[in-house]
Amino acid sequence: VELDRATALRDDPARVAELLDAPAATAVVAGSDGVLIDRADDPALVRRAVADAGLPVFNGTEPILLGVDGDSAVFAVDLDDLDPAARAALLAEGRIATLRDAGAVLSAPEAGLAAYLTALLNWHRRHRFCANCGTRTEIEQAGYSRRCPNCHAVHFPRTDPVVIMLVEADGRLLLGRRPGWPKRRYSVLAGFVAPGETVEQAVVREVREESGIEARSPRYVASQPWPFPSSLMLGFAARSEGGEPRARDGELEDVRWFTLKEVRAAQNEAGELLLPPSISIARFLIDGWLDRAGD
Ligand SMILES: [Zn+2]
Repeated sequence: VELDRATALRDDPARVAELLDAPAATAVVAGSDGVLIDRADDPALVRRAVADAGLPVFNGTEPILLGVDGDSAVFAVDLDDLDPAARAALLAEGRIATLRDAGAVLSAPEAGLAAYLTALLNWHRRHRFCANCGTRTEIEQAGYSRRCPNCHAVHFPRTDPVVIMLVEADGRLLLGRRPGWPKRRYSVLAGFVAPGETVEQAVVREVREESGIEARSPRYVASQPWPFPSSLMLGFAARSEGGEPRARDGELEDVRWFTLKEVRAAQNEAGELLLPPSISIARFLIDGWLDRAGD
């Protein structure tokens, strides 16, 4: 089940306090190096009862409410804020997994919760001070905003839009590789949306900047939260008349067209090409292209 983010009751501190005091209240745990998962064969996020003595909620002031799951409210605990003893006690209950590792072993709903937990705590960690006047801000709406006590600016969790796009020309796919990637790994191109730009414009601009190829008719396909630290990947499929791609802006070390046959072989883990891992939206876009292309 997807967590109800309980947007309506966040503005009512009495309701939030009630949820926090209820025996069913639980907390999930993460630090800047990953999320806390249990050691079961089929792992899940470690859930601790909030009623357990000494389980600290974020900053010790306002709790961070993730949402409500049936009768149980789910709160977030940041390991980075704990004293060493409290931290060690929690760590003893499981192991820390990076979000990438967690995504590979958790069920889809648990992986979604892990991404949400990570994104929200990343934002709080990086936005403790007012961007307008520099004063330390205070958590409001049970973790969904921060208010500046000096200039009264309200700050909301930010999400940075990134476009990631499949570009196809005449049955071939445009893929590039960044320096430092595993050998033979190529993926679809991606880049941040610039201020004042539509996502469709960002697709065309990024493809041009990274490869010199002209893309057209971008069509939205799907999205994926990517809290590294706060991106949202917006997946597109676009077409092109082709041309000779060239790595231009220094972000890619190589970019080229791959034939259906080459990409199909890579999907079957054969051939020279290595595709991105299955949990990524990049791979989702590539697999979708192969499905549509048939044999
Ligand atoms: Zn301020």
